[in-house]
Amino acid sequence: MSTASPTSNGKRVLLAKPRGYCAGVDRAVVTVEKALEKYGPPVYVRKEIVHNKYVVDTLRKRGVIFVDETSEVPEGSLVVFSAHGVSPAVHAEAEERNLRTIDATCPLVTKVHKEVNRFARDDYDILLIGHEGHEEVEGTAGEAPDRVQLVDTPEDVDKVTVRDPSKVVWLSQTTLSVDETMERVNQLKERFPELADPPSDDICYATSNRQFAVKTMAAECDLVLVVGSQNSSNSKRLVEVALQAGARDAHLIDYAHELDEKWLEGVETIGVTSGASVPDVLVMELLEKLAERGWEDVQEVTTANEKITFALPRELRDGGRARSSVR
Ligand code: SF4
Repeated sequence: MSTASPTSNGKRVLLAKPRGYCAGVDRAVVTVEKALEKYGPPVYVRKEIVHNKYVVDTLRKRGVIFVDETSEVPEGSLVVFSAHGVSPAVHAEAEERNLRTIDATCPLVTKVHKEVNRFARDDYDILLIGHEGHEEVEGTAGEAPDRVQLVDTPEDVDKVTVRDPSKVVWLSQTTLSVDETMERVNQLKERFPELADPPSDDICYATSNRQFAVKTMAAECDLVLVVGSQNSSNSKRLVEVALQAGARDAHLIDYAHELDEKWLEGVETIGVTSGASVPDVLVMELLEKLAERGWEDVQEVTTANEKITFALPRELRDGGRARSSVR
């Protein structure tokens, strides 16, 4: 990374790259857009398609109806499952209700579902590190509810009970803090020395890349602003990672207008980043607001170039691959 010295007024913005949309979010948003184009409104979506207010509000205006459960979808209607994934019980309920379904689960979440199935088949106890109540965790644990135990807090580590300590594996939610997850794994390994590791990283490339980018610049920042929603796990983790890596202050905001002038007092360097479900237009609005207040010097801090894309669900493939228009 290179961060040039501040301009004469001392004010500068360090803009993290990568930030914002990941391949799984882009695919999920395009899935809903294409479903609207192909089948016309209303298209039902179970839960928020991705955890971002702006994206959800924009799609709602175009004719999407967001519901909490498939039981709220009229029989025979079209429902899209969100990027966070659903349990087999939700698929079964949709089938019972004769719903037409399109599954926008991120392929990297599906990968963790498959790992749960595989280890459950091999009769392992599965310790799933993740946040209680998060939709992704509910979907993943639902693949094998009798075999999965959730480990969220350090206290949970002591509560876990396993049948055979030589047949235990840990898996994780895709959007956790990389460092905190490893802390939890080390605690678990003290209790279960034979604890097996996942076959590959469950924390996804987008989560770890965004955390690494913000970590790289945090120590130089008086303030880090993360654009993202309060219910977005990976966005919240970016605030925590920034503070742990030396930023003096850090806040999560959905929109530029939520910027609190008090945060800017005595500040020279501001770090800016955004969660994996955040369209870049929201970051650009924040940069404009900061420029009006004297932070015109924006230096991009690049720690990785992401090239990953995912194919759309089969029902919506038409040869080409559109980029979502909510960006
Ligand atoms: S954050 Fe990771 S797991 Fe979640 S949608 Fe994006 S790529 Fe997929």
